[in-house]
Amino acid sequence: KLYNLVQDLKGNIRVYCRVRPFLPGEANSVTTVGSLDDGNITIISPSKYGKKSRKTFTFNKVFGSSAAQVEVFSDTQPLIRSVLDGYNVCIFAYGQTGSGKTYTMSGPNDITDESAGVNYRALGDLFLISEQRKDLIAYDVSVQIIEIYNEQVRDLLATDGSNKRYPFKIRNNSHNGINVPDANIVPVASTSDVIGLMNLGNKNRAIGSTAMNDRSSRSHSCVMVHVQGRDLTSGSLIRGCMHLVDLAGSERVDKSEAVGDRLKEAQHINKSLSALGDVISSLSQKNAHVPYRNSKLTQLLQDSLGGHAKTLMFVHISPEPDSLGETISTLKFAERVS
Ligand code: ADP
Ligand code: MG
Repeated sequence: KLYNLVQDLKGNIRVYCRVRPFLPGEANSVTTVGSLDDGNITIISPSKYGKKSRKTFTFNKVFGSSAAQVEVFSDTQPLIRSVLDGYNVCIFAYGQTGSGKTYTMSGPNDITDESAGVNYRALGDLFLISEQRKDLIAYDVSVQIIEIYNEQVRDLLATDGSNKRYPFKIRNNSHNGINVPDANIVPVASTSDVIGLMNLGNKNRAIGSTAMNDRSSRSHSCVMVHVQGRDLTSGSLIRGCMHLVDLAGSERVDKSEAVGDRLKEAQHINKSLSALGDVISSLSQKNAHVPYRNSKLTQLLQDSLGGHAKTLMFVHISPEPDSLGETISTLKFAERVS
């Protein structure tokens, strides 16, 4: 309890930066990452891109390109215990398309025990800890997976045509807090249940995408994990919720090139990511007014951002010089909220 109080006073927003490795086929002789240590990262603009310059950014933690999934998760682990203690938790991935957001949250396309991302590990830990506490507290865990695309909420667990009711409403219910009551909510009891749901979610998310039109990078996806615990002696209830969010790509779209649907998407993404930045920075400055209502994303996450909730943002950057502009704007965004 005292520990939690101290945490509250220190603020509950942490920002981690992760650099993805060069991918097979990428020219890897020049990198923009000059140096990094536990909490600092220095970005160098190579001289062929103009004047050589360096800038250092500071975060709670910086993970270099060789950091394994297990290492990244180990710093995330205390948050999982918090959910079972009745806190709301939000973990999200920010960065330009191709910088490793989905890799951090889910993993690569073929997931193994080693390559599984935060989502799987978080749920695995949730079941592990609830099993350890089973003589004291009976936990129920259920999952919803939704997507926000062009400011509309869609159910990624719909199997029965219930997406006809799309777009879904985000409601504020005094009993459950902020939720999406019309989206499927599925009880889960094991990691394999969760893997099945995530696969369904990914399949549904891919619908409407083509190679040229990868919708997944232009929508936010959110796994909502609802946890309810009943104290077996007193009968009292504990409620916690965890939001695991893979955000839309943060890259700026060239205004002269984007037209029609592409322009509309870009405007929606821009609006919701800046609303997110505004909310987090006003929370970290302890402002009295927090502008949650400016986007669907911040409305959805309201209970998981601020108050006693604990927030972890992973910001992702790519090492190659072509990404320099986006790398700098990603790190500036992150610095503003940390
Ligand atoms: P995003 O979701 O931000 O668009 P992805 O997670 O899809 O980016 O990553 C782009 C590519 O880089 C994918 O092929 C992914 O498997 C790979 N990748 C990203 N991060 C890592 C990492 N830390 N280690 C190995 N491969 C990675
Ligand atoms: Mg992705």
